Amino acid sequence: MASTACLCQLTLSGPPCTVYWYTNEIGNEFNRETMTYLRPHLLEDALQWMATKRPLVMAGCTDIYPTTQAPSLDGPLLDITALEGLRGITMADGWRRFGAATTWDDVLQADLPPSYRMLKQAAREIGAVQIQVSGTIGGNLCTASPAADSVPCLMALDAEVELASVGSSRRLPLAEFLTGPRQTALRPDELLVAIHVPSHAEAGLSGFAKLGARRYLVISIAMAAVRLVVEDGRIADAAVSIGACAPVAVRQTGLESRLVGSRLAEIDALAVEAMPMIADSLSPIDDVRASAGYRRMAAAELAWRRIRSLCGEAA
Ligand SMILES: Cc1cc2nc3c(=O)[nH]c(=O)nc-3n(C[C@H](O)[C@H](O)[C@H](O)COP(=O)(O)OP(=O)(O)OC[C@H]3O[C@@H](n4cnc5c(N)ncnc54)[C@H](O)[C@@H]3O)c2cc1C
Repeated sequence: MASTACLCQLTLSGPPCTVYWYTNEIGNEFNRETMTYLRPHLLEDALQWMATKRPLVMAGCTDIYPTTQAPSLDGPLLDITALEGLRGITMADGWRRFGAATTWDDVLQADLPPSYRMLKQAAREIGAVQIQVSGTIGGNLCTASPAADSVPCLMALDAEVELASVGSSRRLPLAEFLTGPRQTALRPDELLVAIHVPSHAEAGLSGFAKLGARRYLVISIAMAAVRLVVEDGRIADAAVSIGACAPVAVRQTGLESRLVGSRLAEIDALAVEAMPMIADSLSPIDDVRASAGYRRMAAAELAWRRIRSLCGEAA
């Protein structure tokens, strides 16, 4: 498509920001009057734009382009990929911080404790490598798809999200941030800045399992993320979360309480009690990928297999 891009630099605070006005010479897909693109370096500049322009926030764009299906994007666009401090994994005050623009490839390359193995297993299944090097952890959460693969893992890690707007910042547990299918608690002037995981949730082993209609590049029918801490032959802590089987991923608090204190040697006997607990906690939909009944059974099976294999590993 023939197009021209006129580039100028807009100085807000700190280093100059880049603003492009695109014009298309063969069609009207690009609207010269309305399309502005800002790629700032400083969070305060981005937040100022959020407050005044209400731009479409762009990270890896791997959800935006399939969702809009538009040949081009209109209106003010805020590209967050150059923002300082938004990409990378760090430790601060006993919490692990994932910048919202951290890519799935960054997660895969990071040196993380075994409790994050489930998040790495999920990252490896998000699209193919091309998607993993562009798609971000923040984009996955803000899309808020019931089938977003990171959500059950981050819930099992007791993750909190950090949301920022001009002059203020707030933190919410992930379960409160995700309010429904493709709905979040994000206000129009807010950016998701980071995801924080508390140190107590970094204990133990973890695993993720996803069921789809084929092995790769597939939207989940059901998925399970499990984290177990085993001490002296007993389960000392458990976190189990099921995705794609309810409007938002579901933490299995009843099952977790039942598991804590159980001896590894007795785990097999718990299956009869545990699998119906999982299935009954879910509210899946019937759709082209699977029936609700199949999803309930599949989710219970996936979770239980993960619990058993982690118990075997810890024994
Ligand atoms: C071929 C293909 C396969 C895929 N496979 C999977 C899969 O297996 N599992 C899976 O879970 N997903 C999958 N996805 C979806 C997608 O890749 C992921 O959800 C990815 O993590 C989205 O990140 P992004 O940076 O590209 O988001 P973007 O597309 O840039 O943004 C997504 C949404 O979040 C908003 N947003 C992004 N960052 C922020 C922020 N910091 N603050 C506020 N709002 C923000 C955007 O405005 C937009 O509404 C796939 C996508 C494609 C194209």
